[in-house]
Amino acid sequence: MTIHATIAGVPRIGPDRELKKALEGYWKDNSTGRHLASTATLLTNNYTDAALSAGLDSVAFSGRSFYDATLDTSALLGVLPERVQDIADHDNDGLPAFIDRYFATARGTSELPASAMTKWFDTNYHYIVPELSASTTFSLEDSAFLQDIADQVNRAGTAVRPVLVGPLTYLSLARTTDGSSALDHLDELFATYARLLPRIADRGVEWLQLDEPTLVTEIDPDVLEKVRTGYKKLAAASNLKLLVQTYFGDGDQAIKALSGTGVQAFGVDVVYGGAELPSWNGEELLLVGVVDGRNVWRTDLDAALETLRGLAERGPVAVSTSCSLLHVPYNLDRETRLRAEHPDVVEWLAFGTEKIQEVAVLSRALRGEATDADEQALEASRKAIAARAESPLTHNAEVRKRAEAITEADRHRDPVAQRREAQLSALDLPPLPTTTIGSFPQTQEIRAARAKFRKGDIDAAAYDQAMKDEVADVIRRQEQLGLDVLVHGEPERNDMVQYFSEQLEGYLSTEFAWVQSYGSRCVRPPIIFGDVHRPEAMTVSWYQVAQDLTDKPVKGMLTGPVTMLAWSFVRDDQPLGTTADQVALALQDEIDDLVAAGAQIIQVDEPAIRELLPLRKEDQPEYLEWAVGSFRLATASAPNEVQVHTHMCYSEFNELIDTVSNLDADVTSIEAARNGMQVLEALKDAGYELGVGPGVWDIHSPRVPAQSEVDDLLSAALDSVDPRLLWVNPDCGLKTRGWDETTASLEVLVSAAHKARVRA
Ligand code: GLN
Ligand code: ZN
Repeated sequence: MTIHATIAGVPRIGPDRELKKALEGYWKDNSTGRHLASTATLLTNNYTDAALSAGLDSVAFSGRSFYDATLDTSALLGVLPERVQDIADHDNDGLPAFIDRYFATARGTSELPASAMTKWFDTNYHYIVPELSASTTFSLEDSAFLQDIADQVNRAGTAVRPVLVGPLTYLSLARTTDGSSALDHLDELFATYARLLPRIADRGVEWLQLDEPTLVTEIDPDVLEKVRTGYKKLAAASNLKLLVQTYFGDGDQAIKALSGTGVQAFGVDVVYGGAELPSWNGEELLLVGVVDGRNVWRTDLDAALETLRGLAERGPVAVSTSCSLLHVPYNLDRETRLRAEHPDVVEWLAFGTEKIQEVAVLSRALRGEATDADEQALEASRKAIAARAESPLTHNAEVRKRAEAITEADRHRDPVAQRREAQLSALDLPPLPTTTIGSFPQTQEIRAARAKFRKGDIDAAAYDQAMKDEVADVIRRQEQLGLDVLVHGEPERNDMVQYFSEQLEGYLSTEFAWVQSYGSRCVRPPIIFGDVHRPEAMTVSWYQVAQDLTDKPVKGMLTGPVTMLAWSFVRDDQPLGTTADQVALALQDEIDDLVAAGAQIIQVDEPAIRELLPLRKEDQPEYLEWAVGSFRLATASAPNEVQVHTHMCYSEFNELIDTVSNLDADVTSIEAARNGMQVLEALKDAGYELGVGPGVWDIHSPRVPAQSEVDDLLSAALDSVDPRLLWVNPDCGLKTRGWDETTASLEVLVSAAHKARVRA
């Protein structure tokens, strides 16, 4: 059987976040394993059934995943970290035997640290980083996976297409604990997959998908050669038809490297990669990802058909999504409020269910089998695409005019030396000033107040008062701790992007459009549909409430333009840099208002600047130009005596050190504790001359750091940073922590700073 219509991958969390609820239930109470298992089964069954009845003829299936597909692969290959090996098998309930080791790897336990987690390519989905070493050997623990496949095949036959993370991608995402190269295991991993494939084939499977998104990035020719040899072995290992799927970039390199190896199909992303595919000679089936799997816009079906028809002249093609539908919400139908408030914009959108329909319509139209309903769908698409292109809702003349008038000078402040002098006299700070990143614990009471307000149980005034009381409490606690630069604690913010998006024009928010971020965590990214602007001040009153309560400086707290884009669904009808500048202008207005209200320090967070970095080196300079440019545009109107801070939360940013420096923020706080302050070395080498606060408390680890630990980290910092430039702060915001550990840890931090001041 060939494939005509499919999707590159499936979401797992459930349309109502059913898996999230079942997971969290199980983590609280291990006796609910049976419910967790049946929830995961039901979700996959329902999804497969719905996709098939919508007209797909092949559906990806990655097993019942309980956290993350890369972690699933680690479990399948028998390489969960050594430290969890003593955790007993879970031997009933219909869960995999390794499930408790699997969760211990993902989440840690009271005794064991969790594995690292990081962003999946340039998306906001996080995977669990495999931990390997030179002595790693793979041993298949495949009974749960094989059983899942057998169950699915039993229900849906050969339309079920199991998916595995491909060997190259798996190893490229791994880290080693001993400095060896994970890619040294490439041959061995291919051999392990070669043992697995016949076992999968035995379950009655016809097609097997191997995800190799790493193949869209620059790969060393020797490695490519090994990958080619490896795939030849895999193709010969069983009678499975192999599909190699790439996404998030151009698929041609994969085709070039692997055609003629016996791989029978390539899945390519022609939304974020080219559709030219010069290396495809029509030998293998081409799954053309014309429907955007990671954004929420309707497909221009006419344009997609044209692409498909062009390729179909060269060989056999099938219709698919650009990547897994994991990255988009399930179903647009449920957004009734959105439909009422933005009836026009809703017509321009397509979530998962709608995208599956688009694939099915395109596939029938391509084969000349379009039904009347399909013709109607094509017509509706035409109308919606035209309406969006012409809609005044996406265009704001004033915003455009202002953006056009931006000059290079608008992205520049006076030289650092001048600013530093002005700030020294404006701000009366001790050496090694202490501060935090912005948020304080989002307690049960804060969340309860927000829920009551949403439901209408309390009015806006009562909610506001509850938040103001919280701010007062946070200020009092910071004064007691003896911190030098205070924050208001961000209790009023549910999420650092959503909070601003709800106050900006051009953005809309959804009610049910959840997307898995990691494990059981979901986010509801807002959608940027039009020109962004700020109708009124967004944060000034909160700043004022806090500043009125203390003589110490309180930081104004904003989310930067790049992060505002990275954690939203962005418009695809103009360059990202254009949207980023619009957000920057809105932030500029906010900063002006904060300064007018007396703010002496303003922090503009950019935790996502690294995440959007293009996968291919050749695309990076252009990105960095607009990313840095928009941050500078947002902050450049701050007068010299106002200190601009920024915050980033990742530590391997050695390659981005110039970028950080180009942001020209007076002070940058960065994650550093977990990596033993490696960042500092890079800063020193780069001759960094702005203020810096390497985090001395790893807030992601659920324990209070020992005094000696923080003392040591701070003294390491003092070894490489000029004491006049050094700040003392945690790694990140504290909203996920509890008050007890927060207070105890900050006491340690303040005491470390006080001791170090005496020495410095
Ligand atoms: N100011 C934000 C906070 O403290 C920053 C969060 C982040 O870095 N992701 O929560
Ligand atoms: Zn952070």
